[in-house]
Amino acid sequence: MAAALSASEQKKSVAVMEAAPRVGRKLLATGNGRCNLVNMRPAPYYGDGDFAGKVLQHCGWEDVLAFFHGLGLVTREEDGGRVYPGCGQAAAVLDVLRKALERKNVPVFCDAKVQSVQKTEKGFRLKTADQQFECKKVIVACGGMAGGKLGHDGNAYALLTSFGHTLKKPLPALSPLTAEKGAVKGLAGLRLPAVLTLCDGEKPLASAAGEALFTDYGVSGICAMQLSADVHRARDPRLMIDFSPMLGLVPCRYERLPVQKPYQNREKVLALLKARAERLPGEEILLGLVPRLLAERLQGQSLQRLSESLSAFPVKITGVRGFEYAQVTRGGVNTAQFDPVTMESRLQPGLYAAGEMLNVDGDCGGYNLLFAFASGMLAGRAAAK
Ligand SMILES: Cc1cc2nc3c(=O)[nH]c(=O)nc-3n(C[C@H](O)[C@H](O)[C@H](O)COP(=O)(O)OP(=O)(O)OC[C@H]3O[C@@H](n4cnc5c(N)ncnc54)[C@H](O)[C@@H]3O)c2cc1C
Repeated sequence: MAAALSASEQKKSVAVMEAAPRVGRKLLATGNGRCNLVNMRPAPYYGDGDFAGKVLQHCGWEDVLAFFHGLGLVTREEDGGRVYPGCGQAAAVLDVLRKALERKNVPVFCDAKVQSVQKTEKGFRLKTADQQFECKKVIVACGGMAGGKLGHDGNAYALLTSFGHTLKKPLPALSPLTAEKGAVKGLAGLRLPAVLTLCDGEKPLASAAGEALFTDYGVSGICAMQLSADVHRARDPRLMIDFSPMLGLVPCRYERLPVQKPYQNREKVLALLKARAERLPGEEILLGLVPRLLAERLQGQSLQRLSESLSAFPVKITGVRGFEYAQVTRGGVNTAQFDPVTMESRLQPGLYAAGEMLNVDGDCGGYNLLFAFASGMLAGRAAAK
């Protein structure tokens, strides 16, 4: 939609083909129904991260916000960088996009799953199950496989690979972590401020702070989901959970962190426990400090052992939940054969790609929509020239 609107700015004849019965269904689910549409802070992108950086140099968050403000959307900033619609409704983002398409007379064909894109003498031929469309240029922005029914089944990649583009294996990212049976036994339902470090065996790979949500299958919550893509590169993935923020020993933060060393707060935790042990009976040391379910789990441990458990609670990870539960796709179409200024294919002039289809993914917090909108806008502007 951002691509189509940007192209229609140049008074070109544009149409949107949408496989689903309605456009923008995924948008409605974003940000827990609030749509975190942009993040104003710089952040790394994964996969072809350099490519994403170049795209955002040419169309950054300022441009994307100006685009939405131009459509009439009022936005507000939270947590030092996350941008949401002012009214807190994802539907507002979709509404302004849909209305602008209507206003600009951009036809939207729904239930129109494009099955193939072929090169013709004058441009391209797009085929759906029962129709075909001719156009001079085509922008493929079919999203990724994340979000279950909101994503695609992987077939859309063929629209680009049929022109020689290559695919980096798509994997679920920003997805909850599954744990070995028993690893989080008795803790389901707890939501605890913590710093999570994912290790490969003993080696720390990545860290994130936030609220760890314990479930019957493993660990969820944004901070756990931030680490999910790193699980794919670990042979022996283990999560080390530092509960120091819950114990009031370090500030509660909600962000990806530089890689932390497990046990780094062990001495602080031990000092806290020793101080409590001076005034409380042994069985009450954890009372009022940690939730009862966790206290029961740690019952009987020595002070030394408790300080280890609370500064690096080990959870053996077995994998991540599938695309159905993932917010974004890691992997996708390699960007090496696309121009990051125009999003045009270097293999097939007139063919463009944008968004989550490409081998680019970002952290939770508005980075994925920012990349989708920015790359779509660049593609739309360039295709209309
Ligand atoms: C639950 C959830 C919450 C999220 N929250 C956030 C958030 O708050 N902030 C953020 O930045 N990111 C968030 N994301 C990620 C973000 O939604 C996606 O990265 C983004 O929507 C990708 O945009 P896109 O245009 O590339 O693809 P999509 O939004 O997936 O749009 C692609 C469209 O193409 C259609 N399509 C697919 N195949 C075909 C075909 N063959 N022919 C025609 N049409 C086709 C699809 O039906 C879809 O409508 C969230 C994702 C999920 C699942």
